[in-house]
Amino acid sequence: MEILLSYWPWMFLLLPVAYLLGWLKGISFKKSDNPARTNTLSSDYFKGLNYLLSDQQERALPVFLHLVQVDNETLDTHLALATIYRRSGNYDKAIEVHQNLIAKPSLSAKYRSKALLELGRDYLAAGLFDRAEGLFNDVIKNGFYEQQARQYMLDIYQQEKEWSEAIKITRTLIQNGESKLRTLIAQFYCESSDQYFQKGDIKQAEAAAKDALSYDAGSIRAMVIRVQNNVALRKFKDAIKFIKRIEQTDAAYFPLVLSYCITAYRELGKLEELIEYLKWAEHQHSHLSLMQPIVELLLEVKGEEAALIYIQKQLALTPSINGLASFMMLMNKQEYFSSNNHFQKLQHAVERIRQKNEQYHCNKCGYTSGTLNWQCPSCLAWGEIKPLTGVMNAKN
Ligand SMILES: [Zn+2]
Repeated sequence: MEILLSYWPWMFLLLPVAYLLGWLKGISFKKSDNPARTNTLSSDYFKGLNYLLSDQQERALPVFLHLVQVDNETLDTHLALATIYRRSGNYDKAIEVHQNLIAKPSLSAKYRSKALLELGRDYLAAGLFDRAEGLFNDVIKNGFYEQQARQYMLDIYQQEKEWSEAIKITRTLIQNGESKLRTLIAQFYCESSDQYFQKGDIKQAEAAAKDALSYDAGSIRAMVIRVQNNVALRKFKDAIKFIKRIEQTDAAYFPLVLSYCITAYRELGKLEELIEYLKWAEHQHSHLSLMQPIVELLLEVKGEEAALIYIQKQLALTPSINGLASFMMLMNKQEYFSSNNHFQKLQHAVERIRQKNEQYHCNKCGYTSGTLNWQCPSCLAWGEIKPLTGVMNAKN
């Protein structure tokens, strides 16, 4: 097994060759089926193929470029050669092979479209997005391989953060049967909504968030945006409606809207109701730690004694780093502790552990950071990053 593992990068390099061997096997079957056809394949073609199979791509390239006849039978070999070049980062050579194919008058419309698509992929891999986009548009006009061309265009728009274009093309893909893209288009609407919000256009931001929810009713991100928009529009009751929807859908994201939640209840003059709601939510969701905001609200609304009684009871029930930090914050209000140097150091250390605990983690690749990204910067997956808040808890 260890030997195998040490060879695996080489095995990867052999994949295109394996593909060619499989394809050649196909040809040999076709040979026996149709002897007349075999005679029409030129000796140059087999010479080029031979170079390819013996890993001499440099010698194979001029042979293939000068082949006069390219048809449906020999097209695959040209494409395989270009793929080898593209995978090894040799984009110029891949482009040369594909351009050469497109120029052949013997190629059918369908296969010309395939060559155009592959040429677009070369430019995409080389980072020349404008050229790639133009070629994919040509493929769509030709009427063959349109769905693939749209998928690659979607890659471009995501990399360039052109969300309105990404939305347009994803809608077409969904109309043509790609229903699994519904959660993805919801993310694009959310990106678009964020842009409107930053420009101060809350109305458009709200419209885009509604579109996101129409495609993906469970989109936490769209719900968070609707909370933010409704608070900005001073529609506090609507904001609370979405806060509760987030808490019910996935409570791990509740800390994201906590500050909006406090603002909304405060503006409505219902802080006591909020304390009861937070206590209830914490009890409902074992991974959710709301001791800190509850203690702060109790301090504000009912005074120090009520806060101390609550935190002591909660710490006995479910010890957690958040609870400990809140308890120490309360102790610090007393002269005895606030003037004690050792206590100050201890409180500082606990606070640092608590902050370190507030992190976000990608379920797909394990990427961890202190800020929430809806698209993972490491594996580029959407909606896979979740908050880890409250995990250092004796309950779990
Ligand atoms: Zn990731």
